[in-house]
Amino acid sequence: MNTITIKPSKPFFYNPGFILFVVILALLNNLEHSTHVYHSISKTNFTSDWMNWVYCILVNLLIDLSVIAFVVNGRHKEAGIYAFLIFIINLLYYDGLEIFPIQINNSIAYVTYSSMFTYSIYTFSKLYFERVNSQEKDHNLRAELDSFSEKMHQADDSIKAFNETIRQKDIEIRKLNELMLQLSESNKDLTSFKIKRISELTCKDCGHVAENDFGVSGHKKGCKTSHS
Ligand SMILES: [Zn+2]
Repeated sequence: MNTITIKPSKPFFYNPGFILFVVILALLNNLEHSTHVYHSISKTNFTSDWMNWVYCILVNLLIDLSVIAFVVNGRHKEAGIYAFLIFIINLLYYDGLEIFPIQINNSIAYVTYSSMFTYSIYTFSKLYFERVNSQEKDHNLRAELDSFSEKMHQADDSIKAFNETIRQKDIEIRKLNELMLQLSESNKDLTSFKIKRISELTCKDCGHVAENDFGVSGHKKGCKTSHS
């Protein structure tokens, strides 16, 4: 007896969506720190400070989105580099652990943010190119699969048509065999009739074979063997 085994579903914590959600929360947790650091070095010229803050939040959200993009695209190296740079920003948020004067901390922030922006442009250009290439390959592969599927379909139709032809031929052969059997029976009847007829036309005394019934009666009157 067959038994059906049902695999236990993976716990919720293995779910990729949940893992990504944790990554997002961790990034948002840093958003306040990063925004603070970026605001302290920002040279924006918005008319009001709240606009400056909004701008700084958007810049750091962009960095967070970059990390998410790296994670979902399996770019561990890039995500790791960003995580390290975010770590430096976090240190700067805590005034660089008060090791360096503010000017040096700000310089580190300039270098960190500048390198993040440049690295973003470089990696996302590369990623874009790879994705386009990948999509093109997928498209070609799908076209090949479609074409193969179509050929398989045609081959299947040909096999069906071939099977139908064989079935028709088989029917014809059966009919032919039946006819041959009937012919054989007719031939047997004809042979026995022929033998019977020859026997009727043959004189039992002298073995003379007459041409017809009239000949038989004529011969009986004049048969020398019967008279001798
Ligand atoms: Zn005779």
